Amino acid sequence: MSEKIIGIDLGTTNSEVAISIDGEVEVLKVDDHEQLPSVVGLGENGELLVGTPARNQYVLYPERTIRSVKREMGSDRKLALGEQEYTPQEISAMILRRLKGAAEARLGEPVGKAVITVPAYFSDAQRQATRDAGAIAGLEVVRIINEPTAAALTYESGHQGARKILVYDLGGGTFDVSVVNMEDETVEVVASHGNNRLGGDDFDEKIVERILAHLADQHGGELEIPIRARARIRRAAEQAKIRLSDAPFALIEEEHLFEKDGAALHLSLELSREEYEEMIEPFVEETLEAIHIALKGAAMAASDIDEVLLVGGSTRTPLIARRLEEVLKLQPRSELNPDLCVAAGAAIQAAVIAGVKTSGVLVDITPYTFGTSALSLLDGVEYPEVFVPLIRKNTVIPATKSEVFFTVYDDQEAVEVKVYQGEARDAMENTLIGAFKIEGLSKAPAGNPIITTFSLNLDGILNVTSREKKTGLENSITIDNAFDRFDEARMETAKARIGQLFEGELAEDGEALEHNRGVVQGKALIEKARRLLDSASEDDREDLIELVENLEEAMAGEDDQALEDAMAELSDLIYYLES
Ligand code: AMP
Repeated sequence: MSEKIIGIDLGTTNSEVAISIDGEVEVLKVDDHEQLPSVVGLGENGELLVGTPARNQYVLYPERTIRSVKREMGSDRKLALGEQEYTPQEISAMILRRLKGAAEARLGEPVGKAVITVPAYFSDAQRQATRDAGAIAGLEVVRIINEPTAAALTYESGHQGARKILVYDLGGGTFDVSVVNMEDETVEVVASHGNNRLGGDDFDEKIVERILAHLADQHGGELEIPIRARARIRRAAEQAKIRLSDAPFALIEEEHLFEKDGAALHLSLELSREEYEEMIEPFVEETLEAIHIALKGAAMAASDIDEVLLVGGSTRTPLIARRLEEVLKLQPRSELNPDLCVAAGAAIQAAVIAGVKTSGVLVDITPYTFGTSALSLLDGVEYPEVFVPLIRKNTVIPATKSEVFFTVYDDQEAVEVKVYQGEARDAMENTLIGAFKIEGLSKAPAGNPIITTFSLNLDGILNVTSREKKTGLENSITIDNAFDRFDEARMETAKARIGQLFEGELAEDGEALEHNRGVVQGKALIEKARRLLDSASEDDREDLIELVENLEEAMAGEDDQALEDAMAELSDLIYYLES
């Protein structure tokens, strides 16, 4: 039997260890978690702490806790830990020993060799320091590989042919983007750029600032905030940030945060994703500029890239995938856990060196996109059935995602929620797999927020819930087998289409669909016209009413041209009234 070689991602914030077992890569648990915080400390009684306990004591005892040691690798700085001083290699070795121990516990045998990943920009001195750290921990580092290379291996190990891959890696405290060229057996980082002081911690800091401003606002000016309360605020900020990756709002609540003039002070603040995205936008834009620099370094255009891979926990922020897709015109891939794919790639490389066959990493993902429809702009025109994807194709399941929608007119009492499967921007071109109504909404001006949540589990059961934010009134639907449902629906559509073909009715049906779409658009126009009635002058009101009646008549009829004309006339008048 060949000797076991483990793969290690020795990160700035967290570290992971993985190995190929029976042909499949497994990221191992250390203290019940797949991620070990890269923090080392001394406890109350001088005992060595590695991982979560060390991270937890950082705010209270920074003098005996060391984090982000990776930033010091290759330097000859000494790091104080209590009374003693250590080299960065020694501190890193403490982390590596924990990872090695976890692997030995899982395998039930000693482990002596490892593949360790480092950032593409690491110098020779930094790479050598990493090898030394391994040696101190009792690990022979059989190969050092670049982190983006490891990520590319995880995604592409089974792929044939040449590929150009952009790896976007945003972690807790570092950012880098690399262009990787894969050809036959070689994987090479062609260009890399980044900022090793940019990451999720900066996003947390923005939320902390927002919380502090809110507290100052509520309690009259600058506050003297005790260190323990600051630590709680920081943690609450990170949790809110993580919630905002899947939901449109996050409530930040901390009871009894601290005391001021003998009175307990509580924190309660709601943050919307929209507000949050505005706060972090400059950071995200900076990363996009780095992409252009990396592409330039590789002498490539965005259109040369075949795949965009997301690495690092912060890439779960939806704004990032959205902006990348806008800029690169490619949907970034994130089906492999972005925190773990570098370690997994190191394990794949380790398996290759050890001569062990591996099929890579297996995960459960949804093969289809699920979403709903809403009134929005489609090709610059307001359209009531724009598809809004909530759970996108290739998302790891189980998954839960929420979005906020708004009522479109004053005192709107009901909303119809339609559940679609498909990729088209026009929901009507997708497959309707369910629908329900939420009725009895409170009387409110247009813009009353309704939160819709999609939950898809491993068995393909899709639960969709819509809730009026203000009152909690909700309704939901469970679609038992969303995957099959789609197949059934698709089968039905296909059958119907073939049937029509034989009856020679296809063209007519295509027209019917067009007409139907016109009717839906017409309804939206009429709703809009009605809302303008109150503010319009008497003459305009008469015109509006007449054009609405014309349109209603056209909608009831079969004449497409008449319908189009009636819509054009009414939308012209609305345009004139609104401008
Ligand atoms: P890494 O260094 O790759 O482990 O990434 C850690 C960073 O990812 C931290 O700043 C986390 O707060 C952040 N993070 C983890 N999960 C999420 C999430 N769901 N949404 C946004 N950021 C996240």
